[in-house]
Amino acid sequence: MRLEGKVAFISGGARGMGAAEALMFAREGAKVAIGDLLEDEGRKVVEQIAEAGGQALFVRLDVTSESGWQRAVAATVGAFGKLDVLVNNAGIRAQGRVEDVTVEDWDRVMNVNAKGTFLGTKAAIPEMRRAGGGSIINISSQLGLVGNASSSPQYHASKGAVRLFTKAAAIQYAKDAIRVNSVHPGPIATPMTEAGRADPKRYEKMVSGIPLGRYGESEDVAYGVLFLASNESSFMTGSELVIDGGWTAQ
Ligand code: NAP
Repeated sequence: MRLEGKVAFISGGARGMGAAEALMFAREGAKVAIGDLLEDEGRKVVEQIAEAGGQALFVRLDVTSESGWQRAVAATVGAFGKLDVLVNNAGIRAQGRVEDVTVEDWDRVMNVNAKGTFLGTKAAIPEMRRAGGGSIINISSQLGLVGNASSSPQYHASKGAVRLFTKAAAIQYAKDAIRVNSVHPGPIATPMTEAGRADPKRYEKMVSGIPLGRYGESEDVAYGVLFLASNESSFMTGSELVIDGGWTAQ
């Protein structure tokens, strides 16, 4: 199994890509902690993992809270003894042009997507150092690489921040054998994109811009995250893994 003996924490793991990663990680031998605001959904993922013979834990976590992160990491280490892998996956989207964005809108998205990633990384590093190293995977977006008219400036800014924060942390902690990489998904069929996919016009417009001609599935991204979590990627740090059906290659 590709994650045998590892302990992983996944933020925003109650649904969407985070849930797919939690289930895949557990199938590959990891003990998994899920941190999310959505308790019912998170506990269901934990049950699914337990029913399949794996070990998992749900922790209620708001990723914008530093003390929340400290409690979440402590609960994970208390239950499973260490922390090897962190996936900073929790995120929220937004729409609108610069002139329409309020300071509150800006702060809300930057707080969850960018500050949440910083706080998760900060909380995980001491435990990973104790474990002799680790792998942190930060979920950015294809919109962290290029601009696009239909998203929002604060979403782009937050995901661009995740991209470059990843490289700074990768360089700072390479000597501790803590690897930090970012993942850049394109449009993926999750609850986050449900409204857009339900509207035939928006769906057609989106799919016509994806060279592979479809939305990605959560598992398409989870396989990439699994690779970065495993020792198979042991010479990768500060890298960007783009999983976008060719969207940014155009
Ligand atoms: P999703 O289905 O909306 O799942 C995200 C999860 O994060 C939800 O359970 C959400 O709970 C949770 N979350 C939000 N704010 C949180 C907070 N403050 N503290 C803890 N948990 C929080 O989204 P997804 O599509 O799987 O996206 C996962 C990641 O991929 C996000 O970072 C997203 O920006 C990124 N991404 C998505 C796409 C896409 O097309 N889907 C493309 C590129 C990148 P609530 O519902 O309570 O907010």
